[in-house]
Amino acid sequence: MSYSKQATYKRLMSLLSIENRKSSRPRFVLRRHLNKLRWVVLSVIFALLILLPFLHLYQTYLAAYGYDLLDADKKFIFQTMEELTSPFTDNPVEDLDNIKGTTWTGTLFGLKMSDPLAVVGHIASTLTIHWPLVLTAFIPVLLSLVFGRFYCGWICPATLIYELNYKLGSWLHKAGVKIGQRRFDLRLKYWVLASGALISIPTGAVVFANIYPPAIIGREIYYAIALGGFGAGAVFFLLTLGFDLLVARRGFCRYVCPGGALYSLLGRYRLLRIKRNATQCDDCHKCNSACQFGLDPMRDDFGQECNNCTACIAVCPTDTLEFTASFKDVEFQGPGHLGHRYKKMQQQQLTGKERAE
Ligand code: SF4
Ligand code: SF4
Repeated sequence: MSYSKQATYKRLMSLLSIENRKSSRPRFVLRRHLNKLRWVVLSVIFALLILLPFLHLYQTYLAAYGYDLLDADKKFIFQTMEELTSPFTDNPVEDLDNIKGTTWTGTLFGLKMSDPLAVVGHIASTLTIHWPLVLTAFIPVLLSLVFGRFYCGWICPATLIYELNYKLGSWLHKAGVKIGQRRFDLRLKYWVLASGALISIPTGAVVFANIYPPAIIGREIYYAIALGGFGAGAVFFLLTLGFDLLVARRGFCRYVCPGGALYSLLGRYRLLRIKRNATQCDDCHKCNSACQFGLDPMRDDFGQECNNCTACIAVCPTDTLEFTASFKDVEFQGPGHLGHRYKKMQQQQLTGKERAE
């Protein structure tokens, strides 16, 4: 058999084997749908961030017995919140204290929680350890030790906007518009984290709060609803969107965000991580293209940057990527079942065809 015939034969066999694997795939694999679930979670969190200031306003009006003094639009807020909360509480002035705040620091059903970055910022700016505050970061820290940088993929309210902005970038790119594709050293954000903590010591201010998108978003939504305007944080956040679009794809999260840096460090030895089964992988590169954090699921070694967002799992046509419980990444196992040889044969076949034409 000539080489080109052999290549065609192997290609056919490989396609057949992929088809077989596809047809033998179970109909429902939960991990394939986690990315959709993630979008639902992110949307719910964003909706909550919008709802909470309204609830807080309602609680304030109630506590002040000020309904008659309210103007028409505030009366509308009052009535809507009254209708929304009446099935759940007879005493909103007290009960609404059980759910308030933002993802920076807040109370959820009576449980106080803070972003670990808020705690680090507080310790650096006051040079004291306030244990009740430190304990509020216990759950996020514990979850990061198990799930790694999951906050970035599953909780951060900025993620929803950054991912949409990334998709906008992809559409613009397809339409021929030049977008930013620069890559920087991923370690840059650890310097931002260290510098932010160092600057907080002499200034006594939690400087992270000024450049940390989740803190900014929570604060700006509150300003917009309660005070009817935006602060400087909104401008900063818009600049980060511009940076992502014009300089580096998803650049702020990859290279600058101090919270992303802290979560990456906490997730260095995470328990739950994604592993590729090289014998099933067909080197299609879809996982690499889906990863907004610029990681390389095809080369296995994800490192601490992976946020377990599962976008790569969702696009894998052979269900090759799965979760594993291990404190270490799987080392690079080489290419997939046909790997580079298969690719080379494909290429040679194409070149052969071109020549024949
Ligand atoms: S890197 Fe920062 S802004 Fe980006 S997703 Fe993580 S916490 Fe949010
Ligand atoms: S490697 Fe996969 S799970 Fe990790 S960040 Fe990239 S797309 Fe998300």
